[in-house]
Amino acid sequence: MLDLSDALRAEWTEFLLTEAQIWLTVFAFDTLRYLIGAGTVSIVLYVLLKQWSEGRRIQTRRTSRADIRREVTYSLLTTSVYASVALFTVAAMERGWLKNYESFSEHGITYGVISLPLLLVLHDTYFYWVHRAMHHPALFRWTHRVHHLSRTPSPWAAYSFAPMEALAMALFMPIMLALIPLHGLVIFVFLSFMILRNAMGHSGVEFHHREWVDSPMDFMTTTTHHDMHHQKFSGNFGLYFTWWDRWMGTELSGYKEAFRRAAGEDNLKNIGNRQPY
Ligand SMILES: [Zn+2]
Ligand SMILES: [Zn+2]
Repeated sequence: MLDLSDALRAEWTEFLLTEAQIWLTVFAFDTLRYLIGAGTVSIVLYVLLKQWSEGRRIQTRRTSRADIRREVTYSLLTTSVYASVALFTVAAMERGWLKNYESFSEHGITYGVISLPLLLVLHDTYFYWVHRAMHHPALFRWTHRVHHLSRTPSPWAAYSFAPMEALAMALFMPIMLALIPLHGLVIFVFLSFMILRNAMGHSGVEFHHREWVDSPMDFMTTTTHHDMHHQKFSGNFGLYFTWWDRWMGTELSGYKEAFRRAAGEDNLKNIGNRQPY
């Protein structure tokens, strides 16, 4: 006959196996998303478009191998933090505490479509304020210092965070799921866009059209926007959009000039004497 302790042990074993399965699945999914995102940007900009990219380098300094090794190591630590947070998110979903849904008919296709840009705007807001808070001297050392070890970032810096920063970033998704209904496909597209945009923003190559900052598209950030943040620390805290930095007066001076310098037509001729700003 099975006594109580055997039954409890069997229950615990099953619980731990399920948790390990969820953890490994999310870790594999997020790591793969990171490797594909950073890998694609690296191959396109540094191999396929090498010559073009050389003319659009923002900094004269180059990312070292040690930088890339550190960026990949911390990024893998970050995806393991994401997988750990996912254990709690899945548990909350199973209890019906979160607003995830499976059929677009539940909230209508219009809401389904609108929820994607809405998520981007909310993520940009969350990122701006959490990022700015992490730059406070009381928080910087144990939250955000690791990310800023990359003075000349590469696409592999996309998830190069200390565990506390990774935790702050991971909490965005469960917070959103507690507040607004989100379809699984919308979350997938959002996460894919996020890693790609993130890897592009750390690439050190200004691939946006040279008239970008003088066009209506200026509301979206460029590589130069975030690259300047890695060089100067004191502004350009936004992720996708330039709104918050402009409203809060934290856009770094000389941003547009630096962009024009990196994206200018005559870059190929000036590559040898580029002045770092
Ligand atoms: Zn960064
Ligand atoms: Zn920062």
